[in-house]
This record gives sequence, C-alpha cells and structure tokens, in this order.
Amino acid sequence: MNKSRTLKIFRWIILLSILVLTTVLGRLHQIIKIYPSIDAFCPFGGLESAWALLRYQVLLKRVALSSVILLFTTIGTALVFRRSFCGNICPLGFLQELFGIAGRKVIKRRFNLPVKIDNILRYLKYPVLILFLGLAWNTMDMAIRPYDPWVAFHHLGSEDLFSNSLAGFIILVLSLILGFFSDRPFCKYLCPMGGFLGIVSKVGITKIKRESSSCIDCKLCDKVCPVNIEVSAKELVTSAECLTCSECINSCPVNNTLFYVTPGKKRKRIPVVAVLFGTLAIFAISVTITTVTKKFLWKADTGLEQKVERLYWGPQRIKGDNTLVDIIQVYKIHPTYFVNEFNLTLEEEFYKTLNELNIEPSKMEKIVNQLYEEAGLEPRKLLGGGSCGGDH
Ligand code: SF4
Ligand code: SF4
Repeated sequence: MNKSRTLKIFRWIILLSILVLTTVLGRLHQIIKIYPSIDAFCPFGGLESAWALLRYQVLLKRVALSSVILLFTTIGTALVFRRSFCGNICPLGFLQELFGIAGRKVIKRRFNLPVKIDNILRYLKYPVLILFLGLAWNTMDMAIRPYDPWVAFHHLGSEDLFSNSLAGFIILVLSLILGFFSDRPFCKYLCPMGGFLGIVSKVGITKIKRESSSCIDCKLCDKVCPVNIEVSAKELVTSAECLTCSECINSCPVNNTLFYVTPGKKRKRIPVVAVLFGTLAIFAISVTITTVTKKFLWKADTGLEQKVERLYWGPQRIKGDNTLVDIIQVYKIHPTYFVNEFNLTLEEEFYKTLNELNIEPSKMEKIVNQLYEEAGLEPRKLLGGGSCGGDH
C-alpha cells in the first residue's frame, strides 16, 4: 500500500474514532444523566459563551469549560494548520463526508451548484455566524441549539428531539441527503464554526502549493476535494474554504506536485503526515493536560456545568455558587421578581453568585418553592419531570 493511501486510511480511522467516541458520549448522556450533554464537547459553545465569560466570568447554561478548552485548541490548530479541525477532527463534517463517499460509490457523480450561485451561497455561513453569536451574547443563551444538527444527531430517538430540536433535525436530514448527491453542504453553506475557522485560517501558516511545471492537469485533485476547490487552477491554495484534509495531495498521481508549504519567500515543505498527526497531537495534548488537571469535563458530576445541571433536581440543590441567572433560567422566574425582592439596581448583579450577594441558598429555596406553590406547580413538573429537567 502506498504512503498516500495509508495516510488517507489513517485520516478516516481518526475521524471515525472521534465520531464513535462523541456518539457514545451523546448516548451516555441520554441514558445516564451524570454524563454531560454533547454541548460540553463542542468548541462553538465556547464561542457563544465568550461574551458572558469576558464580562461576567460565567459560562452559558450547558456550556462547560471543556467547550472553551476545545475552542482555544481549535483556534491554536487553525493558526498553524488552518481548517484542519474541519478536515481531520470534526465528526459532523465527517458524517457528511461518509454520505458523500456513499453517493460517489452509488450514483458515481456529484451534483454541485453552478459556480456563481455556489460562490454566493458560501458567504451565508458568515451572517449565520454573526446572527447566532449576536443572539447568544445578547440573550445569554445557546441561541443556535434548536437549529444545531449536531445536537439533533445526539437526540435521535429521544422524546425531546421534535420539541427541542425540530429545526436542527430538519437541517441534519437535509445535510445528509444532500450530502449524498453533493459535497458537505452544511460545511460549505451554513456552518458558523466553519465560517469562524475560515476567518482565522486566513492567517494560518500551512498552505497547499501546486508545482505547475510537473502538473499533468488530470484534475484528480479537483474531483476529490470535499469543498470543491479548483486546486488544479491554483498555484497556492489560500481559500478560507480549504479544510486541510489533504485529500488532493494524497490523490495526486505525480510525486512532488502538490504539497504543504510554510509562508514567506523561502517556503519549506511540510509533510502530510506532520499536518495530520500534528493536528491530532495538539488536540490529544490539550485534552490530556486539561483532563489531568480536572478542567476538561468528561462527567457532569464535577465542574461548571454541574453548577446549573443540579438545579434541575429541585430547589433544594440551590447552592451559594449559583447565580440569579442560573435560577432564572432553570426555574423560569421573571427577573423583575428578584429586582423587587433584593433591591437590585445593576444588571451585573444577576451574574453574581448567591454568596457574593449575601443571599442564603435556603432562603432562595424557600422563595422558589413558594412561587411554585402559589402557581399550583411543582418545580420538577414545570420542567417536564425528567431527571435532567427534560430539557437537555
Ligand atoms: S464546517 Fe462545521 S460541520 Fe463542517 S467540518 Fe467544519 S466545523 Fe465541522
Ligand atoms: S492531481 Fe496533481 S497532477 Fe493532477 S491536476 Fe491536481 S496537481 Fe495536477
């Protein structure tokens, strides 16, 4: 087996392993609630939390420190290997690629949009990015969640799927069906994380160079590119669309015609193996260090997510490290109630913990119970009665 074929297989093994691992984690959360929701393993949650983190030093509900760790790891990777996260790590991208591989085998051709329309639609992911970041930063909630196909994927078979993730489910199904006929449609047109990484990747070091003197113009590189870049027409691939998946390099039949290079006048070659395993190494080192230091959330019984998650078990779980925002979000109490009850004057006070506001957790527990009694409800019932609030 030649080296290129081996590298292709290694890439698929890595992507498949990550898809299986995240699927297992997602199922475990559905079955055993002590495992965190899949949001804890998504770097976009870290981006949505950025404003809350900078301004109030809190994370949005369901977002864990692991999302922020993955976000920084992904940005660090993008500064060196550009969108290598998309090409070699992201399981949602790989899921579409699997449907694409099946489509290539079954129907033997791709149905891509006319170039002009395709070029315009590719810009869609940038307003999508701005829209959902704006909403998340404004509402202090994961605004994208109901529309997120990755969340829908992990709720397949769950009773919450259609009530909480109907739009995400439709986007997932359309992305996979269309992915059978065309390449990675969600990645190309809609994914806000892809849009964000496309922007960061513009300053990324690793780029693909084509040696025009040895190129035989067979266009194999164009055919295998999962985002339809016309590699055979470029000297240097600088497009924000490039996923650094190395498929074009691994498919080129002429040695030393397509390869990765560093920037600058004296471009140095970077082997494909260094890009693939370098990306994997950055993620492995980051996740290992933060797991050992107990910052990466593998179980919901420690860390920041649990601070909010435990409230779903009832107001008796309210503790001094909960903020008023935690309580408002979980128990659906109108903020003006707290303004009057505790004479609050500043918006920032909602993001302080009960300890910082000198409010006894037992007092807050009484308040929540009393409000629910007056409404003739039980807190757990209002939340749907599920062990994790029925809203996970
Ligand atoms: S564009 Fe989005 S879905 Fe596609 S690989 Fe990148 S992060 Fe994943
Ligand atoms: S696959 Fe290689 S030889 Fe064929 S067109 Fe692309 S760069 Fe040229």
